[in-house]
Amino acid sequence: MPKRPYIVGNWKMHGTRAMLSEARTIDRAAQRHMKVEVAIAPPYTLIHPVHREAEQIAVGAQDCHHEESGAHTGDISAAMVADAGGKFVILGHSERRQNHSETDAQIKLKAEAALNAGLRIILCCGESDSTREAGRAVSHVKKQLKASLPDFADTAEEISEKLTVAYEPIWAIGTGKTATLEDIAEMHAEIRALLVSLYGEEQGAEVRILYGGSVKPENASEILATAEVGGALVGGASLTADSFMGIALAA
Ligand code: PEP
Repeated sequence: MPKRPYIVGNWKMHGTRAMLSEARTIDRAAQRHMKVEVAIAPPYTLIHPVHREAEQIAVGAQDCHHEESGAHTGDISAAMVADAGGKFVILGHSERRQNHSETDAQIKLKAEAALNAGLRIILCCGESDSTREAGRAVSHVKKQLKASLPDFADTAEEISEKLTVAYEPIWAIGTGKTATLEDIAEMHAEIRALLVSLYGEEQGAEVRILYGGSVKPENASEILATAEVGGALVGGASLTADSFMGIALAA
């Protein structure tokens, strides 16, 4: 059965408790629009407060450490995210890859730790503008994904429940530029083919592939109607309930 469009807000390093009112508004709106699945990844400090407020939306984290506990000052484990009420974690976001030098191998370890803690994962991939200009966008994204996807050996029947992929061209994040619908369709088709080759027709075809990169209420409906786009990962426009739910309603 086709899954509902998945609209995920990444609040990045935005939000104090004053933002809880936005989360409440988003939650109430999501209760009225059950055709979409809505989720928010606030900063760690707001995971538990949002979890307490939310009835309809899922709350998750923007990263996690690959170990369960230990001497890792400033880090948060997947088990801690789950303990705070988190249901998923975004991994491999380009800002983590750039600002914290995260490698595909580290992201794979984090993904496996997240699955062990019972979290769903949203695995990000995407190319830089120079990679796209060099005509290597598709090969780059496929290589990145193959190297960072977790091993699912024991949970084959649940892969499409546990895994979401987010295609986010780096040059489109926070810039106001979006990929063309043709480029989105091409990349999503390539990612779909890769998922089917890795997980088989049944599971590979069911994994949702989100598009991210300057999605706004004004461009959401055409992006969300593009083949193989199963939802959106939204940064800037997820910070107010109005714009975020504008995107959700366009699905
Ligand atoms: C993101 O950072 O995941 C993102 C898509 O940001 P924005 O929507 O602001 O481009």
